[in-house]
Amino acid sequence: MFGGIEGGGTKFVCAVGTGPDDIHAETRFPTTSPAETLDKAIAFFKEHGALDAIGVACFGPLDPNPASSKFGRIMPTPKEGWTNADVVGALRSAFDLPIGFDTDVNGAALGERRWGAAKGLDTFVYLTIGTGIGGGGLVNGRLMHGLIHPEMGHILLPHDRACDPFDGVCPFHGDCFEGLASGVAMEKRWGRRAETLPSGHPAWELEAHYIALALSNYVLTLSPQRIVLGGGVAGQAHLFPLIQRKVQEILNGYVQSPKVLGEIGDYIVPAELGGRAGVLGAIALAELAST
Ligand code: ZN
Repeated sequence: MFGGIEGGGTKFVCAVGTGPDDIHAETRFPTTSPAETLDKAIAFFKEHGALDAIGVACFGPLDPNPASSKFGRIMPTPKEGWTNADVVGALRSAFDLPIGFDTDVNGAALGERRWGAAKGLDTFVYLTIGTGIGGGGLVNGRLMHGLIHPEMGHILLPHDRACDPFDGVCPFHGDCFEGLASGVAMEKRWGRRAETLPSGHPAWELEAHYIALALSNYVLTLSPQRIVLGGGVAGQAHLFPLIQRKVQEILNGYVQSPKVLGEIGDYIVPAELGGRAGVLGAIALAELAST
């Protein structure tokens, strides 16, 4: 039995179970101070009996490297009070259990591999496009880490200001991918929330253009076996054919794989775990930590 914590910037979701069809208990509460929030999570797990491991899929940036002195902590973040918060330390002081700790997107990627759209794959990208944009995934069967962890939402893309004079919203880079294509960027550019824009609106053509540029870069740098898109914007089914066609146009026959050339509908796909990706990802991280 595993405990999972989806640590979000606005809410925490905790669950006890083993997978999508076997969740025994679940609770959610707003993210307040680290001490208060983590105490609530600890109290929830204490109520629900013996666990084999706990997994945390958390907002970042964070330190996921067990060999680092800052392992388990949140790195400098605009989220008030959370810079340097010791998430794993708090759990370890309450439970003598293996603790898995990773980014929300790496957690979601692991969940998609275990139960969703990336079953059986060992090298793939999971990208969430919502309020912000984040990416993770596995390479050769291992979650992507390295220096810290990937920040795929902040890659730089060609930005034709004659077509799109919008400056972008990223506080660090202005017109990086997230700055141009996140839900926040769409709302600021078009003056209304993305989900209220009709499917024929030019906003979607532009959105698909930026997403396709980013995905083409991931195809060229990571050679993923599949790309899984989650988050609110990616939940727009009409976007997928646009993105798929544009990726083929951008790559222009250079990547000689049938997946890209002919089977792209099975190559760039929607996530299958939907709104449960976070907490199921956390349970998948717990399962991984227990092995
Ligand atoms: Zn950025």
